[in-house]
Amino acid sequence: MLIRILGAQGKGINMLEYQDKVVQDVAACTCDRCHRRMTPDDDALWEWGEKLSVSFHGGYGSIFGDGNKVEIDLCQQCVKETLGAWLRISPSEPELADAPSEALRGSVRRYDNPTDPVWPSDSEPS
Ligand SMILES: [Zn+2]
Repeated sequence: MLIRILGAQGKGINMLEYQDKVVQDVAACTCDRCHRRMTPDDDALWEWGEKLSVSFHGGYGSIFGDGNKVEIDLCQQCVKETLGAWLRISPSEPELADAPSEALRGSVRRYDNPTDPVWPSDSEPS
């Protein structure tokens, strides 16, 4: 939460001070299997969006070694070719994705005037 206090001349004074910060963002990804290079600027933007990156540390008893870091980056074609037999693929739910308000129809009470007080049904004012 940022609290802004007006100074004597009406200008805002932030109690928090800020400095510029350089943040690194992933600029490219190379598939570990087929070596396809993918960037967010490629013509085929979906390749960037559909890549799969996995990164984790093995825990106690891990077959990868306790504390070892395990990583892999795969393009979508390699995901399908290597994991396809075990992937659970189901169609999207368009009624939820395209019209979330329709999915809620009947489950939300509507008041014509949102400023009207709402009374519990068993204590309606007389
Ligand atoms: Zn690949």
